Amino acid sequence: MKKFLSVTLAAAMVLSLAACGSSSSNEADSTAAGAAEDKTYVIATDTVFAPFEFTDEENNFVGIDVDILDAIAQDQGFKYELQSLGFDAAVASLESGQSDGVIAGMSITDERKQKYDFSEAYYDSYVCMAVKDGSDIQGYEDLEGKTVAAKTGTQGADCAESLKDQYGFNIQYFDESSLMYQDVVTGNSVACFEDQPVMAYGITQGNGLKIAAEEQENFSTPYGFAVLKGQNQELLEMFNTGLANIIENGTYDEIVAKYTNAE
Ligand code: GLN
Repeated sequence: MKKFLSVTLAAAMVLSLAACGSSSSNEADSTAAGAAEDKTYVIATDTVFAPFEFTDEENNFVGIDVDILDAIAQDQGFKYELQSLGFDAAVASLESGQSDGVIAGMSITDERKQKYDFSEAYYDSYVCMAVKDGSDIQGYEDLEGKTVAAKTGTQGADCAESLKDQYGFNIQYFDESSLMYQDVVTGNSVACFEDQPVMAYGITQGNGLKIAAEEQENFSTPYGFAVLKGQNQELLEMFNTGLANIIENGTYDEIVAKYTNAE
Protein backbone atom coordinates (compact mmCIF):
# COMPACT_ATOMS: atom_id res chain seq x y z
CA MET A 1 0.00 0.00 0.00
CA LYS A 2 2.76 2.37 0.94
CA LYS A 3 4.58 1.65 -2.25
CA PHE A 4 1.45 2.29 -4.24
CA LEU A 5 1.02 5.64 -2.55
CA SER A 6 4.52 6.84 -3.21
CA VAL A 7 4.24 5.79 -6.82
CA THR A 8 1.01 7.72 -7.07
CA LEU A 9 2.63 10.71 -5.47
CA ALA A 10 5.58 10.54 -7.82
CA ALA A 11 3.22 10.31 -10.75
CA ALA A 12 1.30 13.32 -9.49
CA MET A 13 4.51 15.31 -9.17
CA VAL A 14 5.54 14.32 -12.66
CA LEU A 15 2.17 15.45 -13.91
CA SER A 16 2.36 18.82 -12.27
CA LEU A 17 5.88 19.27 -13.59
CA ALA A 18 4.79 18.27 -17.06
CA ALA A 19 1.90 20.71 -16.80
CA CYS A 20 4.37 23.52 -16.19
CA GLY A 21 6.33 22.67 -19.30
CA SER A 22 6.72 25.41 -21.84
CA SER A 23 5.73 23.56 -24.97
CA SER A 24 3.32 25.20 -27.34
CA SER A 25 1.93 21.89 -28.41
CA ASN A 26 1.45 20.17 -25.12
CA GLU A 27 -1.66 20.61 -23.07
CA ALA A 28 -1.76 17.02 -22.05
CA ASP A 29 -2.79 15.74 -18.69
CA SER A 30 -1.96 12.11 -19.14
CA THR A 31 0.18 9.75 -17.13
CA ALA A 32 2.80 8.48 -19.52
CA ALA A 33 6.01 7.36 -17.90
CA GLY A 34 8.06 9.33 -20.41
CA ALA A 35 6.51 12.56 -19.23
CA ALA A 36 8.82 12.23 -16.24
CA GLU A 37 11.54 13.81 -18.26
CA ASP A 38 11.10 17.43 -19.11
CA LYS A 39 12.37 16.72 -22.54
CA THR A 40 11.40 18.16 -25.89
CA TYR A 41 11.74 15.50 -28.56
CA VAL A 42 12.91 16.65 -31.94
CA ILE A 43 10.84 14.96 -34.62
CA ALA A 44 11.84 15.29 -38.25
CA THR A 45 9.49 15.17 -41.20
CA ASP A 46 9.16 15.81 -44.92
CA THR A 47 8.44 19.19 -46.48
CA VAL A 48 5.76 18.57 -49.10
CA PHE A 49 4.06 15.21 -48.86
CA ALA A 50 0.35 15.94 -48.81
CA PRO A 51 -1.91 14.84 -47.25
CA PHE A 52 0.68 13.71 -44.65
CA GLU A 53 2.62 16.95 -44.31
CA PHE A 54 2.34 20.18 -46.26
CA THR A 55 1.79 23.90 -45.84
CA ASP A 56 -1.85 24.95 -46.26
CA GLU A 57 -3.25 28.18 -47.72
CA GLU A 58 -3.02 29.91 -44.36
CA ASN A 59 0.65 29.02 -44.21
CA ASN A 60 0.17 26.45 -41.46
CA PHE A 61 2.18 23.26 -41.55
CA VAL A 62 -0.51 20.56 -41.44
CA GLY A 63 -1.34 17.02 -42.47
CA ILE A 64 -2.15 13.55 -41.22
CA ASP A 65 1.33 12.97 -39.78
CA VAL A 66 1.39 16.42 -38.20
CA ASP A 67 -2.01 15.97 -36.53
CA ILE A 68 -1.41 12.37 -35.48
CA LEU A 69 1.85 13.31 -33.81
CA ASP A 70 0.20 16.20 -32.02
CA ALA A 71 -2.75 14.09 -30.86
CA ILE A 72 -0.40 11.39 -29.59
CA ALA A 73 1.83 13.90 -27.81
CA GLN A 74 -1.21 15.39 -26.10
CA ASP A 75 -2.51 11.97 -25.17
CA GLN A 76 0.86 10.90 -23.79
CA GLY A 77 2.00 14.20 -22.36
CA PHE A 78 5.28 14.68 -24.15
CA LYS A 79 6.68 17.78 -25.78
CA TYR A 80 8.14 17.88 -29.24
CA GLU A 81 9.48 20.17 -31.86
CA LEU A 82 8.62 19.25 -35.43
CA GLN A 83 11.26 19.97 -38.05
CA SER A 84 10.25 19.92 -41.70
CA LEU A 85 13.44 18.91 -43.48
CA GLY A 86 12.54 16.75 -46.48
CA PHE A 87 12.40 12.97 -46.45
CA ASP A 88 16.02 12.08 -47.05
CA ALA A 89 17.21 14.88 -44.76
CA ALA A 90 14.79 13.79 -42.03
CA VAL A 91 16.16 10.25 -42.10
CA ALA A 92 19.75 11.60 -42.14
CA SER A 93 19.00 13.77 -39.11
CA LEU A 94 17.69 10.73 -37.26
CA GLU A 95 20.80 8.80 -38.15
CA SER A 96 23.15 11.55 -37.00
CA GLY A 97 21.27 11.99 -33.73
CA GLN A 98 20.01 15.47 -34.56
CA SER A 99 16.45 14.26 -34.26
CA ASP A 100 14.82 11.69 -31.99
CA GLY A 101 12.22 10.38 -34.38
CA VAL A 102 10.84 10.61 -37.91
CA ILE A 103 7.22 10.81 -38.98
CA ALA A 104 7.17 11.34 -42.73
CA GLY A 105 4.94 8.81 -44.41
CA MET A 106 7.92 6.54 -43.83
CA SER A 107 7.44 3.00 -45.08
CA ILE A 108 8.22 0.17 -42.70
CA THR A 109 10.57 -1.98 -44.78
CA ASP A 110 12.66 -4.97 -43.73
CA GLU A 111 15.78 -3.17 -44.86
CA ARG A 112 15.02 -0.14 -42.70
CA LYS A 113 14.22 -2.35 -39.72
CA GLN A 114 17.94 -3.15 -39.54
CA LYS A 115 18.62 0.47 -38.63
CA TYR A 116 15.41 1.79 -37.12
CA ASP A 117 12.73 0.69 -34.72
CA PHE A 118 9.28 1.40 -36.05
CA SER A 119 6.01 2.01 -34.29
CA GLU A 120 2.92 0.01 -35.14
CA ALA A 121 1.79 0.76 -38.68
CA TYR A 122 -0.59 3.72 -38.91
CA TYR A 123 -1.39 3.98 -42.66
CA ASP A 124 -1.35 1.58 -45.62
CA SER A 125 0.50 2.57 -48.75
CA TYR A 126 2.12 1.29 -51.92
CA VAL A 127 4.16 2.74 -54.75
CA CYS A 128 2.66 3.83 -58.06
CA MET A 129 3.98 5.31 -61.27
CA ALA A 130 2.33 8.48 -62.49
CA VAL A 131 2.57 10.18 -65.87
CA LYS A 132 1.38 13.51 -67.20
CA ASP A 133 -2.36 13.55 -67.74
CA GLY A 134 -2.81 12.90 -71.46
CA SER A 135 0.51 11.07 -71.83
CA ASP A 136 0.47 7.93 -73.96
CA ILE A 137 2.79 6.08 -71.58
CA GLN A 138 0.71 3.12 -70.45
CA GLY A 139 3.19 1.10 -68.47
CA TYR A 140 6.84 0.26 -67.90
CA GLU A 141 7.25 -1.07 -71.47
CA ASP A 142 6.87 2.48 -72.76
CA LEU A 143 9.78 3.81 -70.70
CA GLU A 144 12.64 2.56 -72.86
CA GLY A 145 15.29 5.21 -73.40
CA LYS A 146 13.27 7.73 -71.37
CA THR A 147 13.90 9.49 -68.05
CA VAL A 148 11.73 9.04 -64.98
CA ALA A 149 11.73 11.08 -61.77
CA ALA A 150 12.21 9.63 -58.31
CA LYS A 151 12.65 11.07 -54.84
CA THR A 152 15.97 10.36 -53.15
CA GLY A 153 15.94 7.70 -50.46
CA THR A 154 12.31 6.66 -50.92
CA GLN A 155 10.52 3.44 -51.69
CA GLY A 156 9.48 5.02 -54.99
CA ALA A 157 13.15 5.38 -55.87
CA ASP A 158 13.78 1.75 -54.84
CA CYS A 159 10.95 0.69 -57.08
CA ALA A 160 12.27 2.69 -60.04
CA GLU A 161 15.76 1.26 -59.47
CA SER A 162 14.39 -2.27 -59.44
CA LEU A 163 12.78 -1.76 -62.89
CA LYS A 164 15.40 0.44 -64.52
CA ASP A 165 17.56 -2.21 -66.19
CA GLN A 166 14.72 -4.42 -67.30
CA TYR A 167 12.88 -1.56 -69.01
CA GLY A 168 15.89 0.52 -70.02
CA PHE A 169 15.09 3.92 -68.54
CA ASN A 170 17.13 6.54 -66.65
CA ILE A 171 16.34 8.01 -63.26
CA GLN A 172 16.51 11.68 -62.34
CA TYR A 173 16.50 12.22 -58.57
CA PHE A 174 14.75 14.99 -56.64
CA ASP A 175 14.59 15.86 -52.94
CA GLU A 176 10.98 17.01 -52.99
CA SER A 177 7.88 15.36 -54.37
CA SER A 178 6.64 18.65 -55.81
CA LEU A 179 9.82 19.08 -57.88
CA MET A 180 9.47 15.54 -59.14
CA TYR A 181 5.89 16.19 -60.34
CA GLN A 182 6.99 19.44 -61.94
CA ASP A 183 9.61 17.59 -63.95
CA VAL A 184 6.90 15.32 -65.33
CA VAL A 185 4.52 18.18 -66.09
CA THR A 186 7.25 20.05 -67.99
CA GLY A 187 8.12 16.85 -69.84
CA ASN A 188 11.75 16.35 -68.82
CA SER A 189 10.73 13.12 -67.13
CA VAL A 190 7.96 11.03 -68.63
CA ALA A 191 6.92 9.51 -65.31
CA CYS A 192 7.55 9.60 -61.59
CA PHE A 193 7.37 7.06 -58.79
CA GLU A 194 5.42 8.07 -55.73
CA ASP A 195 3.34 6.62 -52.90
CA GLN A 196 -0.19 5.97 -54.14
CA PRO A 197 -2.10 7.80 -51.35
CA VAL A 198 0.05 10.87 -51.96
CA MET A 199 -0.29 10.72 -55.73
CA ALA A 200 -4.05 10.09 -55.52
CA TYR A 201 -4.41 13.13 -53.26
CA GLY A 202 -2.22 15.24 -55.53
CA ILE A 203 -4.34 14.31 -58.53
CA THR A 204 -7.49 15.47 -56.74
CA GLN A 205 -5.65 18.73 -56.06
CA GLY A 206 -4.95 19.16 -59.76
CA ASN A 207 -1.27 18.28 -60.04
CA GLY A 208 -1.81 17.39 -63.71
CA LEU A 209 -0.74 13.76 -63.43
CA LYS A 210 -2.46 10.38 -63.68
CA ILE A 211 -1.57 6.95 -62.36
CA ALA A 212 -0.23 4.56 -65.00
CA ALA A 213 1.00 1.60 -62.93
CA GLU A 214 0.62 0.32 -59.39
CA GLU A 215 2.96 -1.81 -57.31
CA GLN A 216 0.60 -3.31 -54.79
CA GLU A 217 2.58 -6.52 -54.52
CA ASN A 218 6.26 -5.70 -54.38
CA PHE A 219 6.15 -2.21 -52.91
CA SER A 220 3.25 -2.29 -50.53
CA THR A 221 4.34 -1.16 -47.07
CA PRO A 222 2.50 0.71 -44.35
CA TYR A 223 3.82 3.85 -42.68
CA GLY A 224 5.34 3.93 -39.24
CA PHE A 225 7.01 6.34 -36.86
CA ALA A 226 10.75 5.61 -36.62
CA VAL A 227 13.46 6.01 -34.01
CA LEU A 228 17.07 4.91 -34.29
CA LYS A 229 17.42 1.25 -33.41
CA GLY A 230 17.61 0.81 -29.65
CA GLN A 231 17.28 4.56 -29.02
CA ASN A 232 14.37 6.58 -27.68
CA GLN A 233 12.40 3.49 -26.76
CA GLU A 234 10.29 5.51 -24.31
CA LEU A 235 9.26 7.78 -27.16
CA LEU A 236 8.41 4.78 -29.32
CA GLU A 237 6.33 3.28 -26.54
CA MET A 238 4.48 6.52 -25.98
CA PHE A 239 3.84 6.75 -29.71
CA ASN A 240 2.40 3.23 -29.79
CA THR A 241 0.26 3.72 -26.71
CA GLY A 242 -0.94 7.10 -27.88
CA LEU A 243 -1.68 5.73 -31.35
CA ALA A 244 -3.79 2.93 -29.88
CA ASN A 245 -5.63 5.51 -27.75
CA ILE A 246 -6.39 7.89 -30.60
CA ILE A 247 -7.55 5.00 -32.77
CA GLU A 248 -9.80 3.86 -29.96
CA ASN A 249 -11.27 7.27 -29.17
CA GLY A 250 -11.95 8.18 -32.80
CA THR A 251 -9.39 10.98 -33.12
CA TYR A 252 -7.37 9.04 -35.66
CA ASP A 253 -10.39 8.60 -37.95
CA GLU A 254 -11.27 12.26 -37.62
CA ILE A 255 -7.77 13.28 -38.63
CA VAL A 256 -7.70 11.01 -41.66
CA ALA A 257 -11.19 12.11 -42.72
CA LYS A 258 -10.23 15.75 -42.36
CA TYR A 259 -7.47 15.39 -44.94
CA THR A 260 -8.85 12.79 -47.28
CA ASN A 261 -12.49 13.86 -47.59
CA ALA A 262 -11.62 17.41 -48.46
CA GLU A 263 -12.91 18.45 -51.85
N1 GLN B 1 6.87 6.08 -48.10
C1 GLN B 1 8.04 6.42 -48.83
C2 GLN B 1 9.27 5.94 -48.12
O1 GLN B 1 9.26 5.71 -46.96
C3 GLN B 1 8.15 7.91 -49.15
C4 GLN B 1 8.18 8.80 -47.94
C5 GLN B 1 8.29 10.25 -48.30
O2 GLN B 1 8.60 10.61 -49.44
N2 GLN B 1 8.04 11.12 -47.36
O3 GLN B 1 10.27 5.78 -48.73
